[in-house]
Amino acid sequence: MTWLDTILEENKKFIEAIDADALPTQRQPYPYGVVTCMDPRVNLAAAGVPPFRSTGEIQSQARIIRTLGGMADKRSLVVGIHLAGLKEIAVIMHTDCGCSLAYSKIDTLIGNMETNLHPEKWQEFKNLVGTPIREKLIEWLHAFEDPRAAVKEEVEAIKSYPFVPETLIVHGLVYDLSSGTIEIVVNGYES
Ligand SMILES: [Zn+2]
Repeated sequence: MTWLDTILEENKKFIEAIDADALPTQRQPYPYGVVTCMDPRVNLAAAGVPPFRSTGEIQSQARIIRTLGGMADKRSLVVGIHLAGLKEIAVIMHTDCGCSLAYSKIDTLIGNMETNLHPEKWQEFKNLVGTPIREKLIEWLHAFEDPRAAVKEEVEAIKSYPFVPETLIVHGLVYDLSSGTIEIVVNGYES
C-alpha cells in the first residue's frame, strides 16, 4: 500500500468520524499568527494553538506559517497581515533545529545534493546560489547556529519588510524540544 492509498483510507475514516456541519467553512479574520519550524516535534499545543477537535471543529483561528527554521514566508505575511487581519505574530524557533543541522552538516548537504541531482540541475542551482557554494548556501538557507540569536534576527527582519506596518507586534520565542517550555527572547510589547 502506498502512502497515497493510506491518505485516502485515512480520509474515509475522517469523513465518518467528523460532523461535517462543524467543519470551518467560513474564513475568520484573526489577529494572531504563528511562524514556526516545519519540524514535526514542535507541538503547537504548547503555545495554546491546538489542532482540530476529532469532530473536525476548529480550535484556533491563528494563522500558522511553518517553514524550515521558522523564518516567515513573505507571501504568507502579506496576505496574513493585509487580508487575514494579523496584528500580532509569534515567531517560535526551537532547540535542535534542522536549520542548525544544515549549518553544522553543510558539507553533507552539499554532497547529498550533488549525488541526488542531475549534474545540469546541480550546476543551475549553484549558479542561483553563487560561490563559494558552502558559504552562499548557508546564507541562502538562513542556516543558523543558535536559535536565540536567529529568532532575534528574524523578528528584526520581519519588522524591516516594506509591507509590514509599524503597528505589527512581533514576538521571538524559543521552544525547548526536551522540556516543552517556551522561552521569551523578544517581547514584542516592549520593543
Ligand atoms: Zn526546526
